[in-house]
Amino acid sequence: MIPDSAPNTSIADILAIAAHRDDVEQTCGGTLLRMASRGLRTAILDLTQGEAGTRGNAEARAREAQDAARLLGVGWRQALDLPDGAVENTLENRLKIVRVLRLVRPRVVILPYWQARHPDHATMATLGYEACFLSGLSKVEDGAPPHRPFKIVYASLYADVRPSFVVDITPFIEQRHAALMAYRSQYTNQAAGGGLFVPEEEIRERTFAEARHYGLLAGVRYGEPFIMREVSAVEDIVRIPVKSI
Ligand SMILES: [Zn+2]
Repeated sequence: MIPDSAPNTSIADILAIAAHRDDVEQTCGGTLLRMASRGLRTAILDLTQGEAGTRGNAEARAREAQDAARLLGVGWRQALDLPDGAVENTLENRLKIVRVLRLVRPRVVILPYWQARHPDHATMATLGYEACFLSGLSKVEDGAPPHRPFKIVYASLYADVRPSFVVDITPFIEQRHAALMAYRSQYTNQAAGGGLFVPEEEIRERTFAEARHYGLLAGVRYGEPFIMREVSAVEDIVRIPVKSI
């Protein structure tokens, strides 16, 4: 870890980076709410603007993303201009993320898990990891001081993997749902994409069932799963910070 050279200029403690607007709401929105309730500052960076979506358009999704951010208690949210559906791990794209990392200066970054059905999500995981590394290199210059996040965790909701840990989002599940439903252009029932999209009434049941599944793994009601690549060192095994069941 490279020491943070300007800790007082940090915009957020936690930055969630995702390929698409509304990804974060589904995979780690409850966690962002929980962290905000603990007084931590949270931020979201979306890489694309949603222009390739079957429903809505980039302008509508921009408004909805800001509404969702407010509902999640997120203080900073922006979108880059990578092409929706064609996110690539290029130096140019890594540097776009580096600029944001050096501006926001988060201690923790949340990325999507690296195996995913949607190619943008899988690419995002590697692109985000490499950007976090580059951001810590002083020889990669863009005018801002280098900054490497202390920890990256991967939101693994849609991956068939056993999580490293689960965040208890039980008190926040309704608010998370409200944030997802802020994307009215995507999730209200409508003719466009009718056969492709899950009906509005089923979204709640599915997302709550997924949260219940991961909650059960950790002995809580609703949870969100995460993967850590690294093994944690524990100093005191009678005080491992887990909820007892
Ligand atoms: Zn997505």
